[in-house]
Amino acid sequence: MSAPSWYHAQGTVPPRPPLAGAVEAGTCIVGGGLAGLSLLLSLAECGHRAVLLEKGAIGGGASGLNGGMVLPGWAASLPAIEARTGAADASALYALSLEGVRLVRAWIGRHAVACDPVDGAVEAVRVGDPAAFAAWADESNARFGTRLAVWDQARTQDAYQSPRYKAALFDPDAFHLDPLAYLRGLADAAEADGAAIYEATPALAVKRRGGGFYITVPGGEVRARRVVLAVGADGRGLCRRLDRAILPLLTGIVVTEPLGERLRDAIRADCAVVDDRFVTGYYRPLPEGRLLWGGGLAMRAGADALRRRLLADLAGVYPQLGRPAATHAWTGRMAFTRHRMPLVRELAPDLWALDGFGGHGLNTTAIAGEVLARHLTGGDDAVRLFDPFDAVTTGGPLGPLAARGLVWGQSLKDAWRMRG
Ligand SMILES: Cc1cc2nc3c(=O)[nH]c(=O)nc-3n(C[C@H](O)[C@H](O)[C@H](O)COP(=O)(O)OP(=O)(O)OC[C@H]3O[C@@H](n4cnc5c(N)ncnc54)[C@H](O)[C@@H]3O)c2cc1C
Repeated sequence: MSAPSWYHAQGTVPPRPPLAGAVEAGTCIVGGGLAGLSLLLSLAECGHRAVLLEKGAIGGGASGLNGGMVLPGWAASLPAIEARTGAADASALYALSLEGVRLVRAWIGRHAVACDPVDGAVEAVRVGDPAAFAAWADESNARFGTRLAVWDQARTQDAYQSPRYKAALFDPDAFHLDPLAYLRGLADAAEADGAAIYEATPALAVKRRGGGFYITVPGGEVRARRVVLAVGADGRGLCRRLDRAILPLLTGIVVTEPLGERLRDAIRADCAVVDDRFVTGYYRPLPEGRLLWGGGLAMRAGADALRRRLLADLAGVYPQLGRPAATHAWTGRMAFTRHRMPLVRELAPDLWALDGFGGHGLNTTAIAGEVLARHLTGGDDAVRLFDPFDAVTTGGPLGPLAARGLVWGQSLKDAWRMRG
């Protein structure tokens, strides 16, 4: 699949100049994706002016390429989190994920970020038991104060004319947006609050010296008391412990040609849709009657195969749309940890990781950045909730094989359940 993404095709912005010379900072953040910029903005809002280094352009990583779904939860499921933390801390983490959704909304409002937010998201049931989804809706509404509504098959198919769906959960508080525009908005807001951002500035090395760190870049260096590595899936070589804990996985998106009335006949709601398969599929309507369709997982850039798989998936869900052409198609790399929870932790004194958000990064980066900012500025210690999720190795060269085995196994199971 080829760049630019549909979002990038909407327009470029002038790059910020690279760092030249030496600067001093309390905190140096490496990585200008959602994680780094959420932290930068949260710190700026607490009155702490940090410096951020981005090796390319803001939004060049997963954050400027993603599907734009702002949904509650983490990449790890609630039962998986609970198995590690116990019920009380798992509830606190899930509540944080909901706070993350609200925080994205609040930032858009507070900083007038023009990123086309559209309310509502639907989780469509393709493989699961609708009764189990209804039970989860009751539990979530009682335990977390969510407003999930259960749609039976008729209600679901009224909005989404697909033979594939057995039921759905509607979440009026989730939403979708243009992620690149949102990210650029975060950067502008942080700068307006006094933060410094340098693009085209790769951190080449992070060295501890005296009571702080020297971060070397091609045109100079940053001297900082503390460093936060928010380098996503592509930021190898700065910290071996972090490198070993992150497994990059590729996923893809296609955007169709304008579909006109055909789209309105098939899809009669503007919400984001995500389905319940292990390798989830998701889509959302775009301006001009286009459809953004995403999903799939690959270890390496089998990009054309991924594009064909996505278009076949679309045709399977909405056969009435025929075989629409993709005018834009791209892949992005997600950073997965072994436990599928992000690393929000101190790897060594004053050297922090804010990474490993996997395929669920919009709400989670916002709240993880906020929680870390509160900790670093002496606010509260909610960051301790991430302690059980350590930087454990993803298995070295065996990691991709194990991931492939898991994905194949679960996808076969899903295919079997969809036949039944
Ligand atoms: C195709 C796709 C679709 C997705 N869809 C969704 C979705 O709909 N909803 C959702 O919630 N999540 C989604 N995600 C996941 C989400 O995009 C990620 O979890 C999130 O963007 C991770 O943000 P990040 O800042 O950790 O990583 P990144 O966005 O990758 O940012 C890391 C940045 O660090 C920079 N960097 C790396 N090394 C250095 C260095 N040495 N010096 C300076 N800079 C460096 C990189 O250039 C990069 O810009 C999707 C991901 C992909 C790929």
